[in-house]
Amino acid sequence: MTPPLGSSVPAVTTALKAGGKIDKVAKVKPRNKVIDGFFNGSKTSEELLSEIHSLAATKHEFMVTTRRDLHRNPELMYNEKETSAYIQKALKKLKIAFTTGWGVNTNPDRIPGEGGYGIVADIGTRKEPCVLLRADMDALPIFEETTNIDDFKSKNPGVMHACGHDGHTAMLLGAASILKGMERSIKGTVRLIFQPAEEGGAGAKRMLEEGLLEEEPRPQHAFAMHVNPKVPTGIVASRPGTVKAAAERFEITITGVGGHAAMPHLTVDPIVTSASIVMNLQTLVSRSLSPLESGVCSITKFDAGSAFNVIPANAILRGTIRALTTEILMDLKDKVEQIVTRTAEMHGCEVGILYSADWYPPTRNDEQLYEEFSKEIGAMVSKSGEVLELDPGMGAEDFGFIAEEIPSTYFMIGSGSGTEPPTDFGLHHPRFALDETILPQGAELHVNLALRCLHMLGEVDSDSHV
Ligand SMILES: [Zn+2]
Ligand SMILES: [Zn+2]
Repeated sequence: MTPPLGSSVPAVTTALKAGGKIDKVAKVKPRNKVIDGFFNGSKTSEELLSEIHSLAATKHEFMVTTRRDLHRNPELMYNEKETSAYIQKALKKLKIAFTTGWGVNTNPDRIPGEGGYGIVADIGTRKEPCVLLRADMDALPIFEETTNIDDFKSKNPGVMHACGHDGHTAMLLGAASILKGMERSIKGTVRLIFQPAEEGGAGAKRMLEEGLLEEEPRPQHAFAMHVNPKVPTGIVASRPGTVKAAAERFEITITGVGGHAAMPHLTVDPIVTSASIVMNLQTLVSRSLSPLESGVCSITKFDAGSAFNVIPANAILRGTIRALTTEILMDLKDKVEQIVTRTAEMHGCEVGILYSADWYPPTRNDEQLYEEFSKEIGAMVSKSGEVLELDPGMGAEDFGFIAEEIPSTYFMIGSGSGTEPPTDFGLHHPRFALDETILPQGAELHVNLALRCLHMLGEVDSDSHV
């Protein structure tokens, strides 16, 4: 009978000193027959799938507790200190070695916080082949309004895990626990990264700059997943090619001459100028972009004035542009600049545009990896038995930085069918809630992707040596 994975059947070895005394008693963990068999071809893919499925089910409670603990204590990007400490404690308990200090904030003048709370952990041989699994861990500046979760509602007013990153971290810790249990049988290395500052802080980019992919063994492929409340629970979704948009954000400061509202001719009105800028920017996508391409320009903040009878001297606009390619994003950026500066000039105002420190590239699923590998694994784990192909989303994702470096796949896991509380509120909604029944599925997807990708890479490697 195959012992359950991760169970410990200690084999005791003794080493006798010359004098016949027992020098050392070492426990040797057993290898796992299913995963061993999978790697050498004697066990089927289905046996591995069902083994991982059963193991993931046993981790459900652990993942729910983890997710709720993180949900209760959300932290903003580059301030994920306690979140990081919690993950480190969990990894220590699982006896998984890790390094921390990753993701230092290089723009503290723009985003508060030192950062450096990212974690990288390796499981397996510490040799090639190597695959990377990523979870993000930061929360959002939102007041939580989710109902029916009183025992784990955010205790930090104005901060909320409204993007499911608490769930992503719990899923990856669940996967870590499963993978650790089969470590001696893993042929290669699974690198887990717990990444800070996804919500606009480019935490993944910081980790890349710090050498994430240069650490030996170097990962050949990377995988990440995100919950999706607009897809029914348990359905795995993705697509080949671009899956998430490239994004840039900006702040425009318009400076005129303030004065009495009754004497506008003695002022240079920044409000009228700003209104004109907002309207002229609406022509950006409708008139500058090919009808066959996709783009977005949204003004999301308009700040000006403080009294009904005063024309202010300044106005501030904030907004974002999005596109499905870097080229189009850069083109939109140039045109924003032209429209803003010329409109301001026409009205006699001065203008300054400040962009983000790091624009996000599109997140692209490598076509070959997706079609020849990832899609099949997603389908195995999906409740429907197939991967739902979605249109690319205009949201952005800093996994795109990693996917630019090595062939990668980004999945979505549907989480929208829960009822207590309802889980179909969109990401970043103050009533967003996670259907926790998907936590084991997320871990299952991670583990299947990692093991099967190592298997694939191992075969490619042995072929190349024939
Ligand atoms: Zn988000
Ligand atoms: Zn997110």
